[in-house]
Amino acid sequence: MPFDPLRPKCPEKVGLYDPKHEKDACGVGFIVHIDGTQSHDLLFDAEQLSNRMEHRGACSADNDSGDGAGVLVAIPHEFFANKVSQLGETLPAFGQYATGILFLGSGNLDSSKKEFEDLAESLNLKVLCWRRIPKKNDCLGEIARNTEPIMEQVFVVPKDPSNFEGEEEGMFGIQVFILRKTASHKLNREERDWKGHNDKRFYVASLSPSTIVYKGQFNPCQLFKYFEDLVNPEFKTHICIVHTRFSTNTFPSWERAHPNRMLAHNGEINTLRGNINLMKAREGVMANMKFGKKLSELYPVVESEMSDSGSLDNVLEFLVMAGNRSLPEAIMTLVPEAWQNDPLMDNNKKNFYRFGSCCFEPWDGPALLTFSDGRYVGAILDRNGLRPSRFYVTKSNIMVMASEVGVYDAEPSDIVQKGRLMPGRMLLVDTKEKKIIQDEVMKQEIALSRPHDQWWSKHVNLGDLRKANIAQFSTDRRPIIKPLEGSEEDSIVARIWQGDRRMPMFGYNLETIQMLMIPMFQTKKEALGSMGNDAPLACLSKLQPLIYEYFKQLFAQVTNPPIDPFRERIVMSLECPIGPEGNVLEPDEKTCKRLWLKNPILSLGDLEVIKNTTVLGWKTKVIDITYDVNGALDLESAIEEVCKQAENAAKDHQFLILSDRNLSENRIPISAGLASGAVHHHLINTRLRSKCAIILETGEIREVHQICVVVGFGVDAICPYMVFEIAQMLREENVISADITDEVAYANYAAAVDRGISKVMAKMGISTMQSYKAAQIFEAVGLADDVINRCFKGTASRIGGVNFRILAQESLIRHKLAFGHNECDARILRDPGFLHYRSGGEKHINDPNSVALLQEATKHENQAAYQKYVDAAVESIRDCTIRGQFELNFPDPDKAIPVDDVEPASEIVKRFATGAMSFGSISYEAHSTLAVAMNKMGGKSNTGEGGENSDRYLNQDPEYNMRSAIKQVASGRFGVTASYLSHADELQIKMAQGAKPGEGGELPGFKVTIDIAKTRHSVPGVGLISPPPHHDIYSIEDLAQLIYDLKCANPSARISVKLVSEVGVGVVASGVAKGKSEHILISGHDGGTGASSWTGIKGAGLPWELGLSETHQVLTLNNLRSRVVLQADGQMRTGFDVMVAAILGADEVGFSTAPLIAMGCTMMRKCHLNTCPVGIATQDPELRKKFEGKPEHVVNFFFMMAEEVRTYLSKMGIRKFQDLIGRTDLLRQRPSDCEKASLLNFNAILMDASKIRPDASIVGGSVEQDFELEKRLDSEIIPLCQDAIDGKEGVILVEREINNNQRSFGATLSHEIAKRYTNDGLPNGTGVDIKLKGSAGQSFCVFLIKGVNVTLEGDANDYVAKGLSGGEVVIFPPKNSHEAFKSEENIIVGNVCLYGATSGRAFIRGVGAERFCVRNSGALAVIEGVGDHGCEYMTGGRVIILGRTGRNFAAGMSGGIAYVFPREYQRALLEQKAASEQMSNNSIEEPPKEMNGRITPEIRVTNDKESPVADIEDSVKDKEMQAKKQEVILDKTRGFVKYKRETKMYREAEDRLKDWNEIYDFKHVRRGLKKQAARCMDCGVPFCHSTSHGCPLGNIIPKFNDLVFQDNWKEALNQLLQTNNFPEFTGRVCPAPCEGACVLGINEPAVTIKNIECSIIDNAFEQGWIKPNPPAKRSGKTVAVIGSGPAGLAAADQLNKAGHLVTVYERNNRIGGLLQYGIPTMKLSKEVVQRHGKDVVVIGGGDTGCDCIGTSLRQGANSITSFEILPTPPDMRAKDNPWPQYPKLFKVDYGHEEVSVKWGKGDPRRYNTESLEFLKDKDGNLEGIRAVQVEWTKDNAGRWVKSQVEGSETIYKCQLALLAMGFLGPEDYVIESFGLEQDARSNIVTKPGRFSTPKDGVFAAGDCRRGQSLVVWAITEGRQAAREIDEYLVGDSLLPGLGGVIHPRVTQKGC
Ligand code: SF4
Ligand code: SF4
Repeated sequence: MPFDPLRPKCPEKVGLYDPKHEKDACGVGFIVHIDGTQSHDLLFDAEQLSNRMEHRGACSADNDSGDGAGVLVAIPHEFFANKVSQLGETLPAFGQYATGILFLGSGNLDSSKKEFEDLAESLNLKVLCWRRIPKKNDCLGEIARNTEPIMEQVFVVPKDPSNFEGEEEGMFGIQVFILRKTASHKLNREERDWKGHNDKRFYVASLSPSTIVYKGQFNPCQLFKYFEDLVNPEFKTHICIVHTRFSTNTFPSWERAHPNRMLAHNGEINTLRGNINLMKAREGVMANMKFGKKLSELYPVVESEMSDSGSLDNVLEFLVMAGNRSLPEAIMTLVPEAWQNDPLMDNNKKNFYRFGSCCFEPWDGPALLTFSDGRYVGAILDRNGLRPSRFYVTKSNIMVMASEVGVYDAEPSDIVQKGRLMPGRMLLVDTKEKKIIQDEVMKQEIALSRPHDQWWSKHVNLGDLRKANIAQFSTDRRPIIKPLEGSEEDSIVARIWQGDRRMPMFGYNLETIQMLMIPMFQTKKEALGSMGNDAPLACLSKLQPLIYEYFKQLFAQVTNPPIDPFRERIVMSLECPIGPEGNVLEPDEKTCKRLWLKNPILSLGDLEVIKNTTVLGWKTKVIDITYDVNGALDLESAIEEVCKQAENAAKDHQFLILSDRNLSENRIPISAGLASGAVHHHLINTRLRSKCAIILETGEIREVHQICVVVGFGVDAICPYMVFEIAQMLREENVISADITDEVAYANYAAAVDRGISKVMAKMGISTMQSYKAAQIFEAVGLADDVINRCFKGTASRIGGVNFRILAQESLIRHKLAFGHNECDARILRDPGFLHYRSGGEKHINDPNSVALLQEATKHENQAAYQKYVDAAVESIRDCTIRGQFELNFPDPDKAIPVDDVEPASEIVKRFATGAMSFGSISYEAHSTLAVAMNKMGGKSNTGEGGENSDRYLNQDPEYNMRSAIKQVASGRFGVTASYLSHADELQIKMAQGAKPGEGGELPGFKVTIDIAKTRHSVPGVGLISPPPHHDIYSIEDLAQLIYDLKCANPSARISVKLVSEVGVGVVASGVAKGKSEHILISGHDGGTGASSWTGIKGAGLPWELGLSETHQVLTLNNLRSRVVLQADGQMRTGFDVMVAAILGADEVGFSTAPLIAMGCTMMRKCHLNTCPVGIATQDPELRKKFEGKPEHVVNFFFMMAEEVRTYLSKMGIRKFQDLIGRTDLLRQRPSDCEKASLLNFNAILMDASKIRPDASIVGGSVEQDFELEKRLDSEIIPLCQDAIDGKEGVILVEREINNNQRSFGATLSHEIAKRYTNDGLPNGTGVDIKLKGSAGQSFCVFLIKGVNVTLEGDANDYVAKGLSGGEVVIFPPKNSHEAFKSEENIIVGNVCLYGATSGRAFIRGVGAERFCVRNSGALAVIEGVGDHGCEYMTGGRVIILGRTGRNFAAGMSGGIAYVFPREYQRALLEQKAASEQMSNNSIEEPPKEMNGRITPEIRVTNDKESPVADIEDSVKDKEMQAKKQEVILDKTRGFVKYKRETKMYREAEDRLKDWNEIYDFKHVRRGLKKQAARCMDCGVPFCHSTSHGCPLGNIIPKFNDLVFQDNWKEALNQLLQTNNFPEFTGRVCPAPCEGACVLGINEPAVTIKNIECSIIDNAFEQGWIKPNPPAKRSGKTVAVIGSGPAGLAAADQLNKAGHLVTVYERNNRIGGLLQYGIPTMKLSKEVVQRHGKDVVVIGGGDTGCDCIGTSLRQGANSITSFEILPTPPDMRAKDNPWPQYPKLFKVDYGHEEVSVKWGKGDPRRYNTESLEFLKDKDGNLEGIRAVQVEWTKDNAGRWVKSQVEGSETIYKCQLALLAMGFLGPEDYVIESFGLEQDARSNIVTKPGRFSTPKDGVFAAGDCRRGQSLVVWAITEGRQAAREIDEYLVGDSLLPGLGGVIHPRVTQKGC
């Protein structure tokens, strides 16, 4: 049903919109008479407070309806008594009745009231009367008016007061609570749900004997106009909590306004889902004597459809009413301080928190919570202090607390205290005791209220368990690991490296071990990758991904901040209690009797300890999660069975261990992720989850992301046993050092995991493991509802997809790979290339073929190559992405229009932008080339967060304009000055980045050159951190403020916000649009160039297709789409991608990787190492010289793509790109023969937003955002200063009052100056002096420029002098302040002052709040004290602190000087020391810091570290060589720069031409081989290995190069034999196309691959490693192979491995074919034919020609001449022979050299020579050849034409002519006898890509099918034919495909 704008009820889920994703942030405050005096003035002040926070709220599209506002007050008894008496009733005394407002619908008003009355009756209560709330709704906005409820106030009294007599005090309140709760449960029936059913709504805003809530869908100003009660002078109260809401939700509602019943909230609870689930789970163990059985009527504690604040309010209310806790204690329990890492915290308090954490996990997230129960009123700030909270106390005993100062008017002389709430602290007023209770006092009192320390002493840790089990375990022993059946030796090496079948079953591959696990064992860290993730989504992968790959980590953006887990680690903790929970409602020592873990990883020994423990009477049950392989497809039943077992066990066991140890040939494991998720949810449903811990004993889990998934879905601890067994194996194999003992391996791995989990939690803004656990912070992509509902309930999975059946099938395929019918090559782990590209393995968008084609197309403007590129790219897109599952839906061909009628490409390219790649991550050359290109074509380039050197935007050359139109402002704030901002067309706020959303970046010191340091205002050589959070954006209203700052700093720039796709991004975007952003970029998860851990690159973010369409739909639904221009980016490749983006709603499209590729990037994925060999992602001056990109290449790319778009548009009959936007009817799901793809459901993505809301315009940017800039004080001041700006007057003085509504003061004035004078500011002698009085609004003096001096007498809010750009700011308290007021003890400025300041001075008399001078890079500041995190990340400037500093001072500071008040300095040092000691136990990274302000920067030098390695000769163990042993230190990272290619392959020509021995100088080659291997860069896209350009076999070259480098020759051999049966042949005679394709070959000699290959196999023969290896089983099938050339032999070898009996038939008397008869002995030794004393002419070139020359020479020829008909090849690649094609270059090979040496007459080759006639002597013998010179020219069609050069005929003397012309074709008689078809070249015809012929059982491969080809192609053919034959014979094959990757026959259709 279309959306009705006049009744915009919150719709049900529609398209990708889901109301669940509502988030809000707000302004909040309270005002209280501390002594409890009731007055109406308080309400008046509350109204003012509410109005002054208007800018913190938001408005709907009608610009009138607010997002919500409300007030909670203590009951005005006399006022209500009066009103009730007017209704003819008498209100009992205060406290003996309860009241509240109900929101009711007109459709069932009376029946609702009746039902409520009946319910009250049933609870011994009665409704005294109802009162209709008087109101004035003419102030409401249209939207709010249309959804307005009927508001009835109810008065409830005891039915019979005597019933409560003699009862404990508070029983009446409890009964009222039960009434409220049951009413909410029972009367909020579905059909009365407020969602869309206004006429039957039922909602209790509050019901209490002490407080009442007035709230609704207002803006703050409407609140007090609407409720007549609130402005009635009789209405008197002593407590008011006010709240204004900024909802990102599209559809704010009356009910969701705050305050809730007890609290109002500014912020967001990130851990909500886990908190709700675990609360539900506790229902199984909770009991309360007072409530008895009634307790269950309160369940679920968290009511349905609650927001995060509503849910927390439910739990808070419950704890206070039923949990034996006071309101302050309940708050302290649910939102604890960061106590874990605070060594200075009082022990009593710490023990209370420890006890508290045994009861509840923290509700974590940025939060300022205000609360009241009528007696207490207070506020608490989250542990990280992420919301602003300021308070005043007046002489007249009033306390005002609010998000801002300036909201309450008081004479300075009346104010006795100005303070702010500090992180984790509570502000509390007890109106009964009439006092403010200090945080420390109150917490101490609570801490000592029970014997928490004694209770805590009952907790148990692993050490206790180990000690208690000492009788059973005399040492910390490891369990015995049973060798798997069939292993040859009983050693761990044999079991794992040589074929532990568990490895393939669990999906291990070489990358897992080498790229992910080894770094964790060695460095305690995860490895880094770069250039994003271009592999398929798990739901499209054909390589059986594990369940974890379907999950994407969610991350914080806009509505809450991510955390920097390292620099701000004081708030992070992984400690966690697990095991049986006590009764949290009646706490006692049992509550603490839980197992306390430091982190979730268990060692093998500790798991055994837990299995056997009897401590505290605990019992452990091991549940087998493997099941019979014969029922493998019934996975769901197997899961159900595990759940049943868990349910039974949970009743009397405290630890459940889900174990897959029993995996075997007959038992297949349920994935640990599925099993644990299902058990967790099952135990919640059966209310048993709180009784036990769930532990995994699994071989499947090893990566951080996998651990996060299982913990996120409820697992308490994991023992990843395979990880530890693999560590043993690696040590025994010398792959890792012997120093890495079992204990060290465990410790290092656990530390790496801790670090990784911390990062994952931090990206969502979660700081404790306890609250991350079970919080389900994931979205699934491509999982069906059956899987989600059983195992991951409540998780978003928006496109359906893979069900249990497919998961079971894929698991079975892995089982087959492990235990298949025949081992074949499956003994070696397959390496499908999930991270780096591998031929024949996992697909990648950036494969070698498309990279090569794109470069060919753009460099040479080659349209044909572009078309091929499009074909290749579309193919990869289909394999990998959601958009690849679509096809364009061309309407009727009659509607097509000529291409010329479509708007020109020059218009379309204006919609293109390049991505935010910063100068720093890429080189100056690459960065400026992109800018020039985009300026040439009218598109936009983006500075990235690294800023831009001012030369580039100040001196613009119209022809070569290097200015980036988009200037980015990110968390790093590098070089963001007034001038930088003023010279932008667009200012982009980066909230997150696609490649690693939620994470920060780091520019290592070695990339910080002088230029970069200058641009970023930092110090050369010192690493730079970009933290994940912007320190001025902790919520949506902070973002709105930054948008406003930037608009003020450059009113003509478009303001853009960059978001990353994730579920709910549409709702976030609607908040961003309400925050007045003009442009929104939705980035996909897959793009990006930045370096990050693989966990971040692969595990976070969603495809842009989902995010874009959700955003377009939600903005349209909210009628906000027209206010913003929408852009999408993320691995955009072709015009097809552009079409899809536009159809899904994008106005513009961004590109990053593709233009980089056009400029020469080869997707090395080495950006983080500074070793980019093409000069793009590097700052190394030598490498930068190699940059060959040109702006034209980029321009060509964009224009070719725009032309492609025009072609599609013309076919669709669309003239303008704008008309395509949002046309989802032009896109449809592509039919797919892949079952996984066909299960996906894209209806939600393809929903037409404009049909849901037809009245909404979807023309992006057609409605201007109204910033109301005219209301600023700047607008008034600028004209007054104009003369100074114009240089007409010296110094101008301005004086004014200011209030908190005046935000971003000074920004536009600075802009006016910066436009004219740049950052130099006003010239000397001119200036503006501004004197102000009052409370300044946020961002006071933001970006203030030189020449402007501002003095403020008063105080200011957050962000003072942010980005200070040379101006001067002075702030001091009012001169008439109270005499007791001491500036050094009172807060004067808010959070995040001088953030990103670059120059200027600030003098502040008073104390600043948190995060002072964060990222200051050049300003001078003096202040009297600061809060936590002061001077964090500072890179320059001077800061003088004349007072206290908070915690975490100077974390990550890398430059500048901070002078700190001496006492504080000492204290800070002590804190740091204690914290480090504490943290080292927690195994999280130590941040680099020193406290004196002169920081020693952490400069990582890992890339310069050279590993000590031994040369090949050491491994070969040649005695002679061992004697000469020399340890050589080689550098693999920069080997390609440092080492030259070894060119000498052959023995000296003089020597070798005299013998028939092999020409190679093996000894020499081998000696330098390690150095040669060090030249290989292990490319992310190894072109050498690609079958399109490199090795046809797909030899895994980077892998064997690396193994040779590491001396692991045996494994190198294994890898080589996985793809090549005869490396001894190819290593000698293959022409090595791999080397032609090697990336190094672009501008250097390629890696010497062939020599390495040859040495590996020769060495293997010498070592005796090559032995016959007959198959264990014979299939009983027989195969005949005709021909024993390389193809025949390879096929035979493979078929033999597969167990078939093979007979090879050869017509000659020796086997080998070409090997025997085509290759001369000195290349491949054998007997020779003697031919002496002849003049020889060789006709034909190439390798064959050279071999003929060499052979003739050794056979005693008199002379040798070689004819080549083509011209002499060039020395450099010709234009039509680009890299990575095989290089056609002039090359002197061994034969040519030998001829020169022998006769001294130079090269024997004669180019451009054509033989015309063989001349005979009189006997008929050959005596000469008549030849002629030819010439080559191009005809008009561009074809080469040959002509003879007149008069050039020559007679060559010759008695022997050798025709080096190759293979003549297969033998006809064989073909005829089989009746096979032949093609024109006489080759046997088979289907493309297949080897079977139409004749059943007959296959063709090699030259007979392919025609004349290289030996390496022949082997490839033989191997692949064998695989097909094997499948033909036994129905399946475990022989590998290309690249050595085995693909067992899959059972699902077509995949
Ligand atoms: S077989 Fe040929 S192409 Fe392949 S790696 Fe060896 S030398 Fe290179
Ligand atoms: S051989 Fe060349 S292309 Fe291959 S991985 Fe090494 S450097 Fe890259």
